[in-house]
Amino acid sequence: MTKEIIAKTALSPSKLPGLDYALNPYRGCQHACVYCYAPSVIHWDKGIWGDLIEAKVNLPRILSKELRVKKKGVVGLGTVTDPYQQAEKKYEITRRCLELLLMHDFPVCIQTKSSLILRDIDLLKKFSNLEVGITLTTHDDSLREKLEPGASTVEERLHVLSEISKNGIKTWVFMGPVMPYLTDVEALMGTISMVKPDYVLVDKLRMKEGVKDSVSGFIKEFYPHLTEKYEDILSGEENYFLKILEAINKSCDTKIGAKYILYH
Ligand code: SF4
Repeated sequence: MTKEIIAKTALSPSKLPGLDYALNPYRGCQHACVYCYAPSVIHWDKGIWGDLIEAKVNLPRILSKELRVKKKGVVGLGTVTDPYQQAEKKYEITRRCLELLLMHDFPVCIQTKSSLILRDIDLLKKFSNLEVGITLTTHDDSLREKLEPGASTVEERLHVLSEISKNGIKTWVFMGPVMPYLTDVEALMGTISMVKPDYVLVDKLRMKEGVKDSVSGFIKEFYPHLTEKYEDILSGEENYFLKILEAINKSCDTKIGAKYILYH
C-alpha cells in the first residue's frame, strides 16, 4: 500500500562519507530486505517493513526552493530507502528531483537495487558530476530472492551497471552486507569483474535494532544448519568478516582492477 505524504524539508545534512546532503523521496521500502536497518534509522512504527510506503509527493516543490539557497554540495539520493523502488514507477518523485538537481548543477550520488534507474538514463548522462552505486550481496539469484524479495535480480543489476557505465557515468558496487557463510565472496567478485565498476564498497552485517530478529528468523527458515554460527554473529562475533576482507582484498586487484573501500 502506498500513502501520499507531505514533507517539510527535502535536503538534510548527511554524515555519510562523501555526501553533503541526503534526499529520500520515500519512507518505507518495497524491497523488504531481510537485513534492512532503515526502520531503526527512521524510527518506523507503521507495521511490517515493506508493507506501507509513504511517497513524499511535494518533495520536488520543496527541493526547488531549497536548491536556490543551499550551498552546492553532493546530494546522496536514496541514503535511507531505495529511490527507485516500485512506487517510483507511478510517482516519478526521484525523476523530478533529478531534473531540478541537474538544472542547479548539484553533484549527485545514487544508490539503488532497482533496474528502474535505467528509465532515467537520459537525465543521468547530462550531469557534470554524478555516480551510481548498485548493491550486490550475492551472485546467486535464489539467495537474492530470499534476502531482497522486492528488488531487481542479480542479472538485472549487472545489466544496469553495464548500461550506466557505457553511458560514461561513474559506477560503484555496494557489496553489503556480506552475509556470513551465505555470500560466496569469490563468486561474487567474479561476477562483479564482468562489469568493471570504478570501485567497490564493502560492508558487514549491521546489528541494529530489529535486524537480529529478522536475520535469525530468516536463518531458521531457510538455513537452519547455520543457526548456531549465526547466534555467535548476532551476538557480536566479527572474526568472520576479517576472513571475508582477505578474500575481497585479493580479488579486487586481480579480478576487478578496482579498489575496495570499507564502509563506515
Ligand atoms: S533496499 Fe535498502 S532500504 Fe530498501 S529494504 Fe533493502 S536495505 Fe532496506
